[in-house]
Amino acid sequence: MYDVATVRKDFPILSRQVHGKPLVYLDNAATSQKPQAVIDAWVDYYTRHNANVHRGVHTLSVEATEAYEAAREKIARFFNVPAPEQLLFTRNTTEAINLVAMAWASANVKAGDEIVVSEVEHHSNLVPWQRVCEVTGATLKLIKVKPDYTLDFSDLDRTLTARTKLVAITQQSNVLGTIVPVKPVMDAARRVGALVLVDGAQSAPHSKVDVQAMDCDFFAFSGHKMLAPMGIGGLYVKRGVLEAMEPFLRGGEMVLEVTYERATWADLPYKFEAGTPNVADAIALSAAVEYLSRLGMDEIRQHEVALTKHALERMREIEEITTFGPTDLSLRGGVISFYMADVHPHDIGTVLDREGIAIRTGHHCAMPLVRSRLNVPATARASFYLYNTEAEVDALIEALKKTQRYFGNAHARRA
Ligand code: PLP
Repeated sequence: MYDVATVRKDFPILSRQVHGKPLVYLDNAATSQKPQAVIDAWVDYYTRHNANVHRGVHTLSVEATEAYEAAREKIARFFNVPAPEQLLFTRNTTEAINLVAMAWASANVKAGDEIVVSEVEHHSNLVPWQRVCEVTGATLKLIKVKPDYTLDFSDLDRTLTARTKLVAITQQSNVLGTIVPVKPVMDAARRVGALVLVDGAQSAPHSKVDVQAMDCDFFAFSGHKMLAPMGIGGLYVKRGVLEAMEPFLRGGEMVLEVTYERATWADLPYKFEAGTPNVADAIALSAAVEYLSRLGMDEIRQHEVALTKHALERMREIEEITTFGPTDLSLRGGVISFYMADVHPHDIGTVLDREGIAIRTGHHCAMPLVRSRLNVPATARASFYLYNTEAEVDALIEALKKTQRYFGNAHARRA
């Protein structure tokens, strides 16, 4: 039985107040809060073990190296990565995708080739591909979003052609909450010999990810959205693809032999981890996946589905609110973007903050989707995680009603 009251006790920040009200943190799609176990792992590393890894023979360096590599193993197991060296540490999803754009695409994409993304992508999974196309002369193609906010897979076999080199697609939209079934994309990509990159920034924190079952070539994620500190994330790469890839960054740590003229590369995964790595945050990320595993990803998902259902039902009480995203709960995660007639989303965010409620407002780094598909300048977005409660959803609704009354009356006074 999932006990949210017990879970909440693990997150010190949830007991603080904002503007004299209990904090209601509903900005989880932007970043998650951290449980004490993650904070403790980070503090313990810096309190007892801190040293640079891999090169040292002294005790602290050996301890730091062992803890860092044990963290990689644990995180690899969490995503069912076949071997730890196929999990590269990066700063976040953005860096993981840029790694693929620099190290793989620059060697494999040529003029006349095609890269396919969808209309719901975060800028992180759009802008790097725009650049690859600009530099190589390849073409960027789009899988469309349908009026029901799911992706249109009806003509995948026409969108993907013999020229398609890569499909880069999100597993869950950070704006619409839409869960994207990756299998049809995988099947269509295999038929034309294209590789598939899955942006797991929003899926990894909220549902079970098995990269082998998914059969993707690249899987990118951010630790900070899944209870770990900011500054650590990762990239899974299929073995054959990884072995053929040239380095992303060059310098210390990633070399085997260096002369004044040239260098050879270290074994995997170090070939892709130039410079001193982010040891403490990797260790804290392993504490985060341990925490998530203990709660159970299926239980977390069920908890978020219940919260989303409750929130969508209650939002219907406010006539002026339009929500974006699939109505079928099995096709959406715990993200609700919405628009309130005659009230700018930033005003909603500001009023809610006075009530202690944190939501996000803006284009959510998906400007083309928000502006030219949803046709609004911005949205307000509430996003849930494993520690949120039904009472917090109710607090959100009451604050939205108050916002609507306030701005509705202001408009009436002006009219
Ligand atoms: N992709 C998606 C779907 C996201 O929601 C985000 C962040 O919100 C990113 C990529 C980028 O993540 P980061 O800023 O951690 O690199």
